[in-house]
Amino acid sequence: MTTRALVTGGAGFLGSHLSERLLAEGRDVLCVDNLYTGSKKNIEHLLANPRFEFMRHDVTFPLYVEVDEIYNLACPASPVHYQRDPVQTIKTSILGAVNVLGLAKRLKVPVLQASTSEVYGDPEIHPQTEDYWGRVNPIGIRSCYDEGKRAAETLFFDYHRQHDLDIKVMRIFNTYGPRMDPADGRVVSNFIVQALRGDDITIYGDGSQTRSFCYVDDLIEGMVSFMRSDRDFVGPVNIGNPGEFTMLQLAQEVIRLTGSTSQVVHLPLPQDDPRQRQPDITLARAKLGWEPQTQLAAGLERTIAYFRGLDRRAKSPTDVSGNS
Ligand code: NAD
Ligand code: UDP
Ligand code: UDP
Repeated sequence: MTTRALVTGGAGFLGSHLSERLLAEGRDVLCVDNLYTGSKKNIEHLLANPRFEFMRHDVTFPLYVEVDEIYNLACPASPVHYQRDPVQTIKTSILGAVNVLGLAKRLKVPVLQASTSEVYGDPEIHPQTEDYWGRVNPIGIRSCYDEGKRAAETLFFDYHRQHDLDIKVMRIFNTYGPRMDPADGRVVSNFIVQALRGDDITIYGDGSQTRSFCYVDDLIEGMVSFMRSDRDFVGPVNIGNPGEFTMLQLAQEVIRLTGSTSQVVHLPLPQDDPRQRQPDITLARAKLGWEPQTQLAAGLERTIAYFRGLDRRAKSPTDVSGNS
């Protein structure tokens, strides 16, 4: 018997990879997305599949459908997008969580929340373990996202304790790969697009802040194995790649791999930008037997190849300048 998965935010970067993966396993997928940051382009290769269904819907409103499991990914993820309409961002996290939890409660099905390393804020503990409560500004420009995701975690755990709901709370660390939106504003897509165009590479601040980057295929593997893990393993669990890099190192790696002549320039550091970020994945290793497989250089090469392809497709057929 095929089972039907609901993927909210399924037309986004991670959601489209997850939908593809679930379909490849023979599952039915209902993709619910309001296309705020996602795009039909991300799922156009799935639309012909009779087991895939797209529904345009905003998760801040109730949703009555019949499914066997729920992956709740709907939420803008890049600072540029989530700060554009902060009220909608926090509504999406909180009202979206209430609605998927209500749905999961009525259907008695498992529900996974795409939480984030942002719940740790600008951390004093390094690397971050799941028992760290975080250091988050409740009133800053990142708060609509950070506090929204923290409140969503609270809702998941309260529904679990109060209604015995089968929950899975996953804390995702910075993830990159093909199908990131070139205009998304996240650091990996920005640097690659800038390097391929020969534009200046924009480092915010002095570039000494760190992030740990996980390749999308590894992340999806972790997400699916978490959903299938024992019912009593509810998380929160960190899923990310512990390889930690400064933004200066990332810029140099992108320049090396693209063979670009771009120069690095420094722009002001955004408010509340976390200084460092590295997942402790001991729990994921122990409970899921999960471990990221893709080194940064290999993942960047695949992502660069994707962006090169986009560039070619975007060029007008009359463009004979020969610029690449
Ligand atoms: P994305 O912006 O590409 O995808 C988010 C999707 O959610 C988009 O398709 C968007 O249109 C949709 N969406 C937004 N608001 C909605 C609403 N109100 N109703 C219905 N759909 C809505 O981002 P992503 O990188 O694919 O992130 C997916 C999830 O993973 C998000 O919840 C994000 O917070 C989480 N996450 C991602 C990362 C990362 O590095 N990519 C890190 C931590 C957490
Ligand atoms: N909900 C939904 N789909 C469902 C069931 C519930 O969208 O199939 C929404 C509905 O808006 C509800 C919310 O989830 O308000 C929370 O549901 P719950 O049963 O926890 O609370 P109640 O219905 O008592 O408010
Ligand atoms: N960043 C940067 N240049 C850019 C975009 C981002 O130096 O063009 C920095 C940003 O200030 C942050 C890091 O890269 O320190 C990661 O930013 P991103 O928006 O990708 O993710 P997040 O801050 O949410 O982890």
